[in-house]
Amino acid sequence: MIEVSEAAKVTTQAAEINAGHVILGCNGYLGALNPQVATRVMPINNFIAATEPLDDPQALIRNNHAVADSRFVINYFRLSEDNRMLFGGGESYGYRFPSDIAATVRKPMCQIFPQLKDVKIDYAWGGTLGITMNRLPHFARVSDRVLSVSGYSGHGVAMATLGGKLAAEAVQGQAGRFDLFADLPSPRFPGGPRLRTPLLALAMIWYSLQDRF
Ligand SMILES: Cc1cc2nc3c(=O)[nH]c(=O)nc-3n(C[C@H](O)[C@H](O)[C@H](O)COP(=O)(O)OP(=O)(O)OC[C@H]3O[C@@H](n4cnc5c(N)ncnc54)[C@H](O)[C@@H]3O)c2cc1C
Repeated sequence: MIEVSEAAKVTTQAAEINAGHVILGCNGYLGALNPQVATRVMPINNFIAATEPLDDPQALIRNNHAVADSRFVINYFRLSEDNRMLFGGGESYGYRFPSDIAATVRKPMCQIFPQLKDVKIDYAWGGTLGITMNRLPHFARVSDRVLSVSGYSGHGVAMATLGGKLAAEAVQGQAGRFDLFADLPSPRFPGGPRLRTPLLALAMIWYSLQDRF
């Protein structure tokens, strides 16, 4: 169990560290480390599968395009260099993963590519990301010496790198760019610590139902 105080003291089971500053960059893995951030950034899990190499991959996607659809629970897919279908899709909420990730991803994959019904999935994996109510990143000054950057809502590959850079600038005394992001509205998820996750799951199910119409 790790604790971070507002005075930037980090307490672990093994040690106490009096830091000059602390930057929280835990995104979906924050857990209960900081309640102020946890109320605005919630964990959801997303999954990817890689099929076995395919005989005629160009019949599925021509010209090696990377594709993403506009559904609420987004599907994204492309071919790998060794001719596999790499397919991302499916979500779960909280910190629990489905027991069979390959089966979870096969479902949306076969809705788009029914011809892959009997194709073997060689690899399937998932991870936890952080989403916010308005899908804008959540940059915050938790205190004078504790900053937080997270909540990229599925677009963190580029944004998290920028977040780290802006937080480092703020620690060095150049806070303009960090504060610009920190001023963005960042509503809390409703429900308090106990009800937040079930309410989020309900809301996500409601929105994902709209994908079907
Ligand atoms: C399947 C999947 C597909 C995705 N696809 C895309 C995509 O195509 N494009 C895109 O832009 N984004 C994508 N994302 C989102 C992207 O991965 C994240 O937004 C990004 O990784 C966030 O970076 P980060 O450094 O903030 O957090 P992370 O990469 O999650 O790193 C957080 C780190 O903090 C560590 N940590 C947590 N708590 C503690 C603690 N108490 N003490 C010490 N360390 C701690 C964790 O172990 C972890 O290593 C995807 C995510 C998933 C799961």
